[in-house]
Amino acid sequence: MSVVDDVAVGAFPPERFRDVLSADRFARFEAEVERARRLFEGRVVWNVNSTAQGGGVAEMLRSLLAYARGAGIDARWAVIHGNPDFFRVTKRIHNNLHGAPGDGGDLGPDEAAVYRATLAEPAAELAELVRPDDVVIVHDPQPAGIVGRLRASGAVVVWRCHVGLDLPSDVARRAWRFLIPHVRPADAYVFSRAAFAWEGLDRERVVVIPPSIDAFSPKNQELDDGARDAILAAAGIVSGAPDGAAPTFVRHDGTPGRVDRRATLVEDRPLPYDAPAVVQVSRWDRLKDPIGVMEGFARHADAADAHLVLAGPAVEAVSDDPEGAEVLRATTDAWRALPARARARVHLAALPMDDGEENAAIVNALQRHARVAVQKSLAEGFGLTVAEAMWKARPVVASRIGGIQDQIVDGVSGVLVDPADLGAFGAAVTRLLADGDTARRIGREAQERVRDEFLAARHLMQYVGLVASLLARR
Ligand code: UDP
Repeated sequence: MSVVDDVAVGAFPPERFRDVLSADRFARFEAEVERARRLFEGRVVWNVNSTAQGGGVAEMLRSLLAYARGAGIDARWAVIHGNPDFFRVTKRIHNNLHGAPGDGGDLGPDEAAVYRATLAEPAAELAELVRPDDVVIVHDPQPAGIVGRLRASGAVVVWRCHVGLDLPSDVARRAWRFLIPHVRPADAYVFSRAAFAWEGLDRERVVVIPPSIDAFSPKNQELDDGARDAILAAAGIVSGAPDGAAPTFVRHDGTPGRVDRRATLVEDRPLPYDAPAVVQVSRWDRLKDPIGVMEGFARHADAADAHLVLAGPAVEAVSDDPEGAEVLRATTDAWRALPARARARVHLAALPMDDGEENAAIVNALQRHARVAVQKSLAEGFGLTVAEAMWKARPVVASRIGGIQDQIVDGVSGVLVDPADLGAFGAAVTRLLADGDTARRIGREAQERVRDEFLAARHLMQYVGLVASLLARR
């Protein structure tokens, strides 16, 4: 039985970027697409990770690969299978790389044995498929153990780490020590920001490439107000929305999509359509601090009519994230313990995941509905949800940590706060709720910043540049 899944990827015309980039940038992009076509002629670009849905990496791969394919490049996506023991170890590594203890377990010889044993088969299977002329991009800790095997087969191998922390800590160093022997053979190590690069890796091979969002995906595409409201009503998230419009969106492949499934809500009463909404969208993960967001809002945001929505995926759906259900449970318990008045204004929404594009359309509508978007994470490699909300011209209040700092220019294109300072968080939210002019100005700036820095075109050009230099070195 195969232990690697081949994920079907669409093909999007790079021409689309003409609508969202300046003429200048689009011309540069077109030239790079041409260079890429020549460079990748006769090669396959493999991307390997451990889940096809849930979280930022899957989200990005779906779009980047489709643009690459649209440009005529044979880009493919392979997902390795794991097992509960393996994902327990890799979740621990993931937490440790963010500087968090996670489940507090060890990363010793037993864990190394589980890790190696699980990856032996997928590595062998992929080594059969990958040819010496190919390029392999291995994403994150889960499949990092296959790097050596694929490198040995002659392909150019890039290891991309999507997580990191601003200042190294002992637990992070422990995870680095665990992974370094696995990733060392790679031709390049890509981090989302310079501060994330690990001690012990050859600096010459470290490259910084920040993530990006896809302006045309169901997650980020334009939605008119009618469709936005209809989607939120169909998902059962708001009550009292004007009706008349259909809850529709455009799927990745250009066909019409429709939101029919309902979110599972933890709330006293549904969110009233007219209430100003403060929204955080995240996986149910302690590092997203859902309980802190709730407490900051309930205790320190002084806006009597505002409501908070914490939205995340239905927890049974994300196979490489075993902690989701537990965190949603803990968040629900904390919600129950809120004073009645605050509890009535807080809504927890588990969004249906049966259809990833339907889920994305709900996220899109929610982010567009938000008066203020928040992302009060304790650690964040990048924080795609921040760029997503910024692209929708929302004012965002987010933590001054990790990749969020590269996105928001404090006071200009968003507001940065210390995530431990719930008072400052609540005050920033209150200010933006009260001052519509400032909120709109910040929202407009946010959108321009994403246009300039965080769309997929920039990301693709950086990949092309990197692979060109690695192939030239060969
Ligand atoms: N996301 C989603 N549905 C959900 C919750 C999250 O599609 O119910 C998406 C979110 O919109 C974003 C990604 O998952 O695109 C999360 O990426 P981010 O970088 O913010 O955090 P990560 O999950 O990678 O830690």
